[in-house]
Amino acid sequence: MTGGGLRVMPPKAEMTGSECVSPTHVHCGCREKAIHSAEQVCNQCGVRFTPIRREVLKIIWESHRAVKAHDLLDRIKPKVGTAKPATDYRALDFLLEQGLIHRVESLNAFIGCSCSERQHEQLLLICIRCHEVEERPCERLMEAIAKELEQASFTMQRKAIEIHGICGRCA
Ligand SMILES: [Zn+2]
Ligand SMILES: [Zn+2]
Ligand SMILES: [Zn+2]
Repeated sequence: MTGGGLRVMPPKAEMTGSECVSPTHVHCGCREKAIHSAEQVCNQCGVRFTPIRREVLKIIWESHRAVKAHDLLDRIKPKVGTAKPATDYRALDFLLEQGLIHRVESLNAFIGCSCSERQHEQLLLICIRCHEVEERPCERLMEAIAKELEQASFTMQRKAIEIHGICGRCA
């Protein structure tokens, strides 16, 4: 142990994820990119990116803060007047299934996925001051965990690590 804390270097393709929370960050680019990549994913999988699914994803991508389901319902109502909560929940399920958003279990909320590869494990850094959540690549970390689980004969169902703390901007 070097005492330097936990650091996982991102592969090149993932660098946009860390730029996302830099002070010079222009967020509308993130949202456009996310919507564009969602269109591509839906096209490739032959599933429909319906207006309600698009609207839900846009609301989640309004910032890098996690969005709770009931806040999402409040925000979507003025946009899609007739939407019922069940429709919104189905849209959330759809986005989760497609790997376009992630559930932040410890906050019971959702964030947009900022990785280009689909269906991956997550390391989520949750700032307790600004409430932004940064998604980091974590392959090596997860490999180590997988070894531990194997030794414990423990079968995991979902692998995600959520760390609460203070982000670089708030520190
Ligand atoms: Zn952004
Ligand atoms: Zn992701
Ligand atoms: Zn912060």
